[in-house]
Amino acid sequence: MPDNIPIIVCENLRKSYGSLEVLKGVTGTLHKGDVVSVIGPSGCGKSTFLRCLNRLETINGGRLEVLGVDMASPRINQKVLRQLRSKVSMVFQHFNLFPHLTVLENLMLAPQKVLKSSSSECKQQALLYLDKVGLGDKAHYYPDQLSGGQKQRVAIARSLCMKPEVILFDEPTSALDPELVGEVLTVMRTLAQEGMTMVVVTHEMQFAREVSNLVLFFNRGVIEEQGDPKKVFTNPQSERLKAFLSRLN
Ligand code: ADP
Ligand code: MG
Repeated sequence: MPDNIPIIVCENLRKSYGSLEVLKGVTGTLHKGDVVSVIGPSGCGKSTFLRCLNRLETINGGRLEVLGVDMASPRINQKVLRQLRSKVSMVFQHFNLFPHLTVLENLMLAPQKVLKSSSSECKQQALLYLDKVGLGDKAHYYPDQLSGGQKQRVAIARSLCMKPEVILFDEPTSALDPELVGEVLTVMRTLAQEGMTMVVVTHEMQFAREVSNLVLFFNRGVIEEQGDPKKVFTNPQSERLKAFLSRLN
């Protein structure tokens, strides 16, 4: 159950690329333990929003506070950023594993570099999390020797090795063959049940409905509608959300 500790506070957040304004005033608060699904049409700013949350993008206006860090502050330095990104981890559509490193090496890299953990500690943690995502026997494989679903589970294990407080997922199953989607969603479902705070950009409406406690419908750079998934899916208010949902069926 969410603990009511705000982790991400967003007020009138704005982000542009040159003259293209993508986020036009996004307002919302996410709490510890929240599992948030972000839905909406292609190009409406979902990835941009996620990337702002761990400051892969700088913001252009409004307020954004993540784990107590003011993301608009000009005083954010590399050290603060590294700490923030270790706590706000990101899982990408295309996995972003290092192809020249084994699974184990991929998992050990950031904890050694950023958390300065010892090699034996990193290895122990890595093996533990690999086991957790059902890939305990793949430690010495290279990414190319794995299926898409296995690669994404490795990417999730890599995130877990950083002991994050929030995991951001950007369409984690969109690049997968349909028969591999389930194994990744199962891992995500387990994390959610264990209380991990998660923000998931997804087209998997069943996952959004069953696993998340909050759905944000992005449209044209704002959150057009938000709420409990049961309400949002069964009784959408805005015409655009109605149209979006009907196009999925
Ligand atoms: P979504 O994830 O909802 O599909 P994005 O956040 O990726 O949407 O993109 C929103 C808009 O911003 C799109 O029009 C996209 O082309 C544009 N955009 C995204 N990233 C960049 C970038 N780095 N430079 C310029 N335009 C970008
Ligand atoms: Mg996107």
